[in-house]
Amino acid sequence: MAESNRACVWVGPRQVEVQQRPIEPVGENDVLVKVISTGICGSDCHNWESASVSKQLVLGHESSGIIEKVGPAVKDRTVGQRVAVEPGFACMTCEFCVRGNPNICANLKYCGLDPTDGTLSQYVTVKSSMTVPIPENVSWEEAGSIQPLAIAVQLGRRASLNAHQTMAIFGCGPLGLLILAVAKAYGVRKVIVFDIEQSRVDFAVKYGADTGVVPPQKGQGIESLAFAQDYANQIVKQHDIGSGFDIAVEASGAEICSQMAICMLKNGGTCIQAGLGKPLTSVPLFLLTAKELSIKGIVRYTPGCFADAIDLLSRKKVDLKPLITSTYPLTRCSEAFEAQHARKEIKIVIMNQE
Ligand SMILES: [Zn+2]
Ligand SMILES: [Zn+2]
Repeated sequence: MAESNRACVWVGPRQVEVQQRPIEPVGENDVLVKVISTGICGSDCHNWESASVSKQLVLGHESSGIIEKVGPAVKDRTVGQRVAVEPGFACMTCEFCVRGNPNICANLKYCGLDPTDGTLSQYVTVKSSMTVPIPENVSWEEAGSIQPLAIAVQLGRRASLNAHQTMAIFGCGPLGLLILAVAKAYGVRKVIVFDIEQSRVDFAVKYGADTGVVPPQKGQGIESLAFAQDYANQIVKQHDIGSGFDIAVEASGAEICSQMAICMLKNGGTCIQAGLGKPLTSVPLFLLTAKELSIKGIVRYTPGCFADAIDLLSRKKVDLKPLITSTYPLTRCSEAFEAQHARKEIKIVIMNQE
């Protein structure tokens, strides 16, 4: 049994510390997971920077590891099994859970989301139903990024992705890239990506996008909607998109991208808002009526998204390795957060036992 449980703990704005934490007791339906790898993302970084976390919170929510102990009532997990940890504690009894959407549970507690401790520790105790088996051929580094891939799978479900569609993705950060990977795995006909940084666009094209574009900056005095509409017409024409894209994904959080996304859609198209922008964003709603468009949000993932993400990795339909630009031992988590914040890396994975 474990004697050490080092954890990466928020102690103040931009300050984390490695602390020893007690291992939570394993209840009837719980498993104890020896955590091997944990990806860090923008929301961890948001916590890291925050001045208003209510306690010394263990960070992290994108973890995988090996089951070290199972509760007496657990029949479908075994000691030694490799698993990904679904970090949401959904109540399974609220009106949303019972209709199959624990991602929008009214009583959701989420690892690493104040005040629920996260998974950046050597050990975590979770409900056995929160673990999803991973086959041997998925590396631990990749296993540390299953949670964000599951979010991209959920987006694929929300967009009903299929092989006949065209897709525009705004934002080539980790989320945009994972959405691209899932779209290509599902055979989406043409994916065009947009980002304000040329290097990110170049990376996305290497990673599978059919075309990548850096949009021009809007000049002073030019009206936003006219700018977005002109640019949309130009892109659709230049890249032979017919009457517009079937799907546009906003994964940057920039207002102008939401406007362009809506302008670029064909009649009946779907815009998925995946980026977290400012609380009030101005978009051309009249086009929703004129073109009978849909706008959908997406948050976290629904049942089976983790298994589908793992399936994509195991069958080599998605390769996360090019996205994982560095790994850090948990003992150097402070440096990992600095690096994540500097946005020099695409995806950082922390090795929890090191
Ligand atoms: Zn995340
Ligand atoms: Zn619920």
